[in-house]
Amino acid sequence: LVEVSELQAAAGPVADAPRFKGGALNIRGLSMAYGELEVLKGIDLDIAPGSVTCVIGPSGSGKSTLLRCLNRLVEPKGGDILLDGDSILAMRPERLRRRVGMVFQHFNLFPDHTALENVMLSLTRIKKMPKRQARRIAEARLAEVGLAARSDHRPAGLSGGQQQRVAIARALAMDPEVILFDEVTSALDPELVKGVLDLMATLGRQGMTMVVVTHEMGFARRVADQVVFMDEGRIVEAGCPEQIFDNPRSERLQRFLAEVL
Ligand code: ADP
Ligand code: MG
Repeated sequence: LVEVSELQAAAGPVADAPRFKGGALNIRGLSMAYGELEVLKGIDLDIAPGSVTCVIGPSGSGKSTLLRCLNRLVEPKGGDILLDGDSILAMRPERLRRRVGMVFQHFNLFPDHTALENVMLSLTRIKKMPKRQARRIAEARLAEVGLAARSDHRPAGLSGGQQQRVAIARALAMDPEVILFDEVTSALDPELVKGVLDLMATLGRQGMTMVVVTHEMGFARRVADQVVFMDEGRIVEAGCPEQIFDNPRSERLQRFLAEVL
């Protein structure tokens, strides 16, 4: 309850005004293998700027690998990915890190740094921003995720939900065109999930382009513009939430939904 009221206080009356721009992704014939193991087998997917795409599918189907390809934490084997028309495979890694943010299941915060320092670090290291300016931006982003009062806490002194919101503030601080979310609520205690999902829904309404791997089918149905169902390295079905959840065409998706819903 505390966490939700923190967010409501932070959201304020203009929270839903359009705010972000850019972030079109065009994925063509994307393939990826770990050694002999083919994990992505020709992914074609278009993501409109300002849209929320939820990726669902069984464990091991390649969802995380797809996200990792989108910011080149792993190198694709073939195909191409365009970000607002620029091939990300030709982009310098530092440039890509600024344009595509990522939030992970286990937060990946630096344990020896405060919330504020965690948000500042990418700004000073990757963007080479002067400290004073980085601090100003970090404070604003922490306020936005409802954590202004906790900026001097280290991760261990924050709940999982608060840590995840620090990680989201850190991604936002870079001013990216796209943010990738990989099962960001899967490690949270159930009562902390809503605060994080509400924050993500707000960012979606503000026009952030988001690719969200999730098991939260309620979130996908409510927030997604597009839902993508993956199985065994392929997109089996993609469409609006109504189509995917209410009229699944393939037997594999029907079976998956029967198991998770
Ligand atoms: P998902 O996120 O849908 O659970 P992943 O993309 O994590 O799927 O994994 C897809 C497949 O790739 C799985 O078979 C997984 O075991 C394998 N895999 C994932 N990461 C690695 C890795 N670093 N090295 C080798 N195999 C991996
Ligand atoms: Mg995964």
